[in-house]
Amino acid sequence: MVGGIRSVAGGTGYVIAGLRREQTLRGHEGLSWNMASIQHPGTRRSSPNALGIGEKLSPQLIPVLLYHAVTENPGRLIAPFAVTPQVFEQHLGILREEQYTCVTFSQLLDSLAAGTVSPRTAVITFDDGYKDFADNALPALQSHAYAATTYLTTGFLAGSKLHHKEPGPADPMLDWAQLPELVASGIEIGAHSHSHPQMDTLTAAQLRRETYLPKALLEDALGVGVRSFAYPHGYNGPRVRRFTRDAGYDNAAGVRNAFTHSNNDPFNVARLMLQSHHSLGTFRNWLRGSEAPIETQGESLKTKLWRDYRRGKAILRRRPGSEYQ
Ligand SMILES: [Zn+2]
Repeated sequence: MVGGIRSVAGGTGYVIAGLRREQTLRGHEGLSWNMASIQHPGTRRSSPNALGIGEKLSPQLIPVLLYHAVTENPGRLIAPFAVTPQVFEQHLGILREEQYTCVTFSQLLDSLAAGTVSPRTAVITFDDGYKDFADNALPALQSHAYAATTYLTTGFLAGSKLHHKEPGPADPMLDWAQLPELVASGIEIGAHSHSHPQMDTLTAAQLRRETYLPKALLEDALGVGVRSFAYPHGYNGPRVRRFTRDAGYDNAAGVRNAFTHSNNDPFNVARLMLQSHHSLGTFRNWLRGSEAPIETQGESLKTKLWRDYRRGKAILRRRPGSEYQ
């Protein structure tokens, strides 16, 4: 939606019209708003962000946070992307201090489509399906009454559907039998492919399998629709997005390490990925709209070249790229 976004905060709303693109001080293509048409009484004054265009963009910055493991003992591959339960609890405390409301990924996308995103809305997401989500993350989320979305790689899950098992991380994974309980706790479950390949290196038949199969398996296990998909490693492109849409998903998450905004492609929503080296200060700054860029549509030449390289490698190896094969 361009040039007609309405958001409401405590009965006093703001209306934004006149979205345009501009070159920012750092040379990134960013989005800016026609300030003359913005009224947002009651919203706080923002701090300048990393792009030097802080105040103009703050009403629309949406942090969609991406976690993997929440544990003291991550495996080697996931360790750089793991946070301890203590740090996770501190993150939730900072979200509360900064007065954020957390909704599920699909709730955010519904609000974006309707033009009703409240200021200070955040989304907490998890990728892969580590068992520590249920052990460590869920109790903390529940104590703060925060919603979240967890994206599961169905071939990695433990339990009954062993005939669908794929090689995966050494870390303990969620069990199929735990999933109904997660749904009952208000967690949105999304698909994260079946075998965690680099989706943009796949053939059409492989792409269909990696999008249709996890949806069918999860819906069968949960008895509810699965609306959301997250691309493994964030790798996608127009073709991958088309297959994902055709498989029946309503939206999809990428990575991009950037803030989401109301004009984000619903099939490539930017997320900010937490890594073990991120400080609490960085986390707080993200919630204040700084230390990360704003999602921009389109791909850089570097991204395109990197995909060509990975595709070439996948063709030579005659199998899709993946971290776990
Ligand atoms: Zn993943």
